[in-house]
Amino acid sequence: MSRLLAPGATIGIIGGGQLGRMLAMAAARLGYHTVVLEPQANCPAVQLANRQIVAAYDDPAALDELARSASIVTYEFENVPVEAASRLASAVPVFPPPRALEVSQDRVTEKSFLNANGISTAAFRAVDNDGDIAAALDAFGGSGVLKTRRLGYDGKGQRVIRPGQAGDIEGAYAAMGNVPLILEELVSFECEISVIAARGRDGTVAAFDPARNVHREGILRSSTVPAGMSAKVVDEAKLASFRLLEALDYVGVIGVEFFVAADGRVLANEFAPRVHNSGHWTEAACIVSQFEQHIRAIAGLPLGGAGRHSNCVMENLIGNDMNRVPALLGEPNLMLHLYGKAETRAGRKMGHFTRMFPKT
Ligand code: AMP
Repeated sequence: MSRLLAPGATIGIIGGGQLGRMLAMAAARLGYHTVVLEPQANCPAVQLANRQIVAAYDDPAALDELARSASIVTYEFENVPVEAASRLASAVPVFPPPRALEVSQDRVTEKSFLNANGISTAAFRAVDNDGDIAAALDAFGGSGVLKTRRLGYDGKGQRVIRPGQAGDIEGAYAAMGNVPLILEELVSFECEISVIAARGRDGTVAAFDPARNVHREGILRSSTVPAGMSAKVVDEAKLASFRLLEALDYVGVIGVEFFVAADGRVLANEFAPRVHNSGHWTEAACIVSQFEQHIRAIAGLPLGGAGRHSNCVMENLIGNDMNRVPALLGEPNLMLHLYGKAETRAGRKMGHFTRMFPKT
């Protein structure tokens, strides 16, 4: 039996945000239909998908309906309940594999997995009370980043402890919500980069050039390509991403974030088993975007070339950044992408744009 998904087949997508929306667009361009599982009605993705199942991500009846409706299922966010993905996987192929969700959902499991596969990270320790935090801070020279192990995203559930503040940690465990935590070494990084890589159902891999990312308040603001890194750093980041894809027996697109430390170390911070905000530039500067690459990978099609025809800078439009839209539309070498969200709220990703420059 051919593993190639025929045009006209239906792809299930768990999650109806902007990433699901852009996956639905890419699937449509390759001749596929999409059905989205998302509790919020009229979500960004369903404006472009063929159908929405309005239900919780872990609703067993809805999952069974999704499995019946789709030939393969994927997801647009990393906090899909593992049990839901596994339930689906017993009925229909699920890509990326649920194992990737399981590893990425817990920062300690994730960093241990990266290290076990020869990928360097910041030093870290699981910490479960103030005493653990104090001991780990001691070991890391008095500073560190305290994070919740699970359900952290966009900088939420984090506290930076700088040298000299180690004495203020009484009550730190309770202040983080009395949940399992990780303390990481505070990396003094030159910059943050990410690699958007893909692995097909036949095991072939491809990676876009790394982007240099700027975050503010834990939210991605911009991605610049090329990242201005040495060939050594670029190769190291791409190779680490490929090693991770192999180790997870992965199918689809993955986003891997790295710190490039002042001392030249390339340290993986985390990975997202999905298309990634720092890869949005690929829709403007590459022939095959990360979204099409993901659909190609999971549908068993050959991967697209991950080459780039332009240099570019992608910026997110967050909250009131929407006021910039009229001026941005006046720029000739700019691609604008809005997510169709009815309500603008502070901190909410409303869209993005990519400014294009000649390739160097
Ligand atoms: P994360 O949720 O792990 O992606 O962290 C959000 C942001 O916080 C990162 O993009 C960094 O800018 C910063 N950050 C996280 N972990 C560390 C660390 N160990 N050392 C220094 N900065 C960090």
